[in-house]
Amino acid sequence: MSIRNVRQSGDEILRKKSKEITEFTPRLKVLISDMKDTMNKLGGVGLAAVQVGVLKRIIICKPNENESEVVLINPEIISKSEETLEDKEGCLSVDGYIGTVIRPKSIVVRAKDENMNDMEFDAEDFFARIICHEVDHLDGILYTDKVVPGTLVNDNEEVDN
Ligand SMILES: [Zn+2]
Repeated sequence: MSIRNVRQSGDEILRKKSKEITEFTPRLKVLISDMKDTMNKLGGVGLAAVQVGVLKRIIICKPNENESEVVLINPEIISKSEETLEDKEGCLSVDGYIGTVIRPKSIVVRAKDENMNDMEFDAEDFFARIICHEVDHLDGILYTDKVVPGTLVNDNEEVDN
């Protein structure tokens, strides 16, 4: 079990584009395992590799507390519903804040699994939201770029000095 340092907003790496994975290596296996440990330790529902400082197109999502993490390699959103949903989002890289973001209600995702097998599936609601948020990370986009104006608020009860 290994917890990695989560990069915070302002760190330039979060603005870079992550690279496609062409080969699944033992190093990637360790990376994914560390990403899961890190996300779970911090109570997150999604994490992109760039958030732990690795510019590779890997995301993990945990839409349901009782289910195991979904690992997506080279994920692409190949279609989006016109119908959208507005909901609050946070990010482990924007510690302490939440804001409202409009996302598609449902999406179709194409990705590879940990065996580099192709998969395609539909995601809806909260799961779709997490995937959209994490795929944005792979292109250097933070949810704060898309937040509905005036909705970004500090979610901490205590004020940091
Ligand atoms: Zn995030």
